[in-house]
Order: sequence, then structure tokens, then C-alpha cells
Amino acid sequence: MLTKRLLFLIAVSAMGFFFTERFSFADDDWQLPDTPAEISDDEEIVLGKQVDEYIRHQFYLEEDPDFNEAVNSIVQKVVAASDRNTIPFTCAILQSLSINAFSAPGGHIYLTYGLLKFAQTEDEVAGIIGHEVAHVSLRHASKLYHEVMEINSQDEGGLRSAANLLLLNSHLEEFEQDADTRGVLYAQKAGFNPNGLLDFLERHLNFMMHRRFFGMTDSGFTTTITARLNHLRECLSNLEKSNN
Ligand SMILES: [Zn+2]
Repeated sequence: MLTKRLLFLIAVSAMGFFFTERFSFADDDWQLPDTPAEISDDEEIVLGKQVDEYIRHQFYLEEDPDFNEAVNSIVQKVVAASDRNTIPFTCAILQSLSINAFSAPGGHIYLTYGLLKFAQTEDEVAGIIGHEVAHVSLRHASKLYHEVMEINSQDEGGLRSAANLLLLNSHLEEFEQDADTRGVLYAQKAGFNPNGLLDFLERHLNFMMHRRFFGMTDSGFTTTITARLNHLRECLSNLEKSNN
């Protein structure tokens, strides 16, 4: 059985939309293996079920059937256009006003009510969903799981939890960009405007800046999100060229 701490790391650090904390880590020589072990679909589904139970325990869910059906119909279109439509995907709407989305192993996607309220078009929602479906397709959460387990087995008092988070963060930046690239393709293939994700992220950034969610001198967040947006713009421009 997974510990609550581990479930938290997988569920939340895996794919939090704007996971931006940075940690310093003294041991520069320490590295994880490049290729984490893969787990089978069945193992991933079992793992995902445990994470899903934990999430459902932590949040109230939005139960309105019409609302859920509208969101799930977008999910199913995007999943059908994805590379991994052999496992069942589900999407839960969390009763939270924060603007966030994340995924767990085994095809579980979570969107907050706040995110859906902030989105202005179905294309934007499809963009977010595309990104989360891509995390599942690319097995990012399972890879993180293996890396956390690997760290735990190496941890003989020398590695601190900050190191774990640093490592997860460095992977997350890479994972975020990969999920963006793949996600816009899924959204487009499902019949949505692939610019939806960029539109949403740009508006969200403006909103956060406007509300002064972070200090002017705290550039960590803006650097991370700027790099992500630049990568996304480049990817959309390449996509447009390939469509013409
Ligand atoms: Zn992500």
C-alpha cells in the first residue's frame, strides 16, 4: 500500500499545472537512472485506483450530471484521438475554486471547478484535457512513481525530501513541455482549435500577474511559465506550417 506522502507526490507533483517551487540541493553528483522502469497497464491501473481513492478522499466532487457529461464528452473525443486509448479514462471535477488540472496513472484526469469557470471556450478546455491525456499517454505519472520509489530505496539518511522535490521538478518541466506538444496534437485531431491551450495559459498568466499572485522579484514562476509558453508557441507554429 502506498504511503499518503507518496500518493500526494504522485498525484499533485505529477502534473500540477503550475508547480513552480525551486529547491537547492547540495549533492550535485547524485543522479537518478535515466530510464525508469515501465510498469504494465494492469499495474498502472491498480496504482491509479489507489491515487484516485486518495484524491476523492481529499476533495468534494462536482456531481452535477450535465456538467460532468459536457466535460466527459470532450475527454472522450480527445482520448479517442490520443495514442493510448486502450485504457479507460475518467475525468472528475473537483469542487475547488483554484485553477488547476492534473492527472494520475491509469487514465484519471482531474479538473477544478475554478478552471472550468475560467475557461472561455471548449477549445481551451480541450487544450487542457489534451495536455492531461498526454501525461497519461506518455506514462509520466508512472515514471515519477518509479523515481520516487528509487529515491526512497537509496535514501539512507543522506537524501532529503527537498532533493526529491528538486528532481521531480526538473522532470516536471520536461514533462510539461512534452505534454503540451502532444496535447495540442490530440486536441486538433479531436476537432478542436489547437490554440486553445495557449489561449488559456496566456490568460491565466495575465490573471495571476494582475492579481499579484507572486512578487515582482520572484521570477521563478514567470521564468518557468515563459519558457513553457515559448515552447508551446513554437510547437503551434510548426503545427500550422505542417497543416498548410
Ligand atoms: Zn502538466
